Amino acid sequence: MTVTGGGGRRRISVFGATGSIGQSTLDLIARAPQAYDVVALTGGANVERLAVDAIRLHAEVAVTAHENRLPELRARLSGSGVAATAGATALLEAADRPADWIMSAIVGAAGLPPGLRALRHGTVLALANKESLVCAGPILMAEAARHGATILPVDSEHSAVFQALRGEDIATVEKVVITASGGGLRDWPLARLPHATPAEAGAHPNWEMGQRITIDSASMFNKAMELIETHEFFGLAPERIEAIVHPQSLVHALVQFNDGAMMAHLGAPDMRHAIGHALNWPDRREVPVARLDLAAVARLDFAAPDPARYPALALAERVMATGGLAGAAFNAAKEAALDLFIAGALSFTEMAPLVERVLDRMEAEGCLEARAATLDMVMEADRLARDRAAELAGSTGTPRRAGQMP
Ligand code: NAD
Ligand code: MG
Repeated sequence: MTVTGGGGRRRISVFGATGSIGQSTLDLIARAPQAYDVVALTGGANVERLAVDAIRLHAEVAVTAHENRLPELRARLSGSGVAATAGATALLEAADRPADWIMSAIVGAAGLPPGLRALRHGTVLALANKESLVCAGPILMAEAARHGATILPVDSEHSAVFQALRGEDIATVEKVVITASGGGLRDWPLARLPHATPAEAGAHPNWEMGQRITIDSASMFNKAMELIETHEFFGLAPERIEAIVHPQSLVHALVQFNDGAMMAHLGAPDMRHAIGHALNWPDRREVPVARLDLAAVARLDFAAPDPARYPALALAERVMATGGLAGAAFNAAKEAALDLFIAGALSFTEMAPLVERVLDRMEAEGCLEARAATLDMVMEADRLARDRAAELAGSTGTPRRAGQMP
């Protein structure tokens, strides 16, 4: 569906506009104001940022996820002509507003309902919210197919695979390899990992991202999510998907075809590349990212990930093999484990075992099975996994602060 506004401008909404991906998206939009009509911008507690951007970009509506922040948002938008709304229903209503292109960049499972709703209208959904695919890949892909909507991957690795597959037949793909920097603790001795603090795990060598995804890079829970995301989005069998450590983060993914050719996608580690690709798709246009100087780069290193250092990768294999509601449970248990780590109630190396025990428990209870999962079932599995994580974490001996000697 095309709902292009006046003067051939495209109507655009950004969900999660105040976050890292959202701000990079607005940066690209603001560089070509004649090309876009901004429909809805959404955010969380940072209503000041949201209001400033909504006024600057002449949005139709600004939505905060927090109902108690509505009075402040209204006050900040007063006299600007931008409408203010709040809460979960308002997010769905914003997704109902006609738009040609919608960025899904809310963090966490909360990004799923508005993204799913937007697909109903046959829009182009630029999907940064990887949790949507991990929790509810089949639901999302079926909804897009039903309504003739297009999902474009924005995660850098998936954008890279998408670009390498352009004009190719997916049946000729032997293998997809996504790269991982290895995170901020890559070179730490294994024995030191239990003592890593959230600040240490939250410092990334190459990418500037939010704290949560940065810690998920150190644990490779992020890469585990991305393996599942690859499986769901491209419909590839788990054995055709692998992760490789590549410390420079310049090659984002590689696709190997049945004639032995391997197509690699390289670029500076700047999310505006993948966002810009989705924004300009199906065309290619100038995107203001640094160009690679390969002679200055000089070398690209690759190594197989050590399973002892990155146990999250094996959990991803298990989730893909189990299917059903395993992705929803995995994502929620991982979010809960991360919350506990950040709060100092769990050590860095206790996160993966906790997620594994949640999966064990829910599998034993028959809670991961679902032949045709619905959004309600996904949300219920999410809630249950968080409850189980809280219970099981409470029973793992004495909680201690990360960094404290055992
Ligand atoms: P962020 O934390 O910087 O921003 C998240 C956005 O979501 C903010 O606008 C916030 O207000 C909003 N939000 C948070 N909780 C919400 C809720 N419950 N309801 C509604 N809105 C809520 O996150 P980010 O780094 O921009 O990541 C966004 C998504 O993109 C995530 O799914 C992440 O995994 C994915 N992603 C991020 C990067 C990156 O470089 N930052 C790269 C690849 C993929
Ligand atoms: Mg990524």
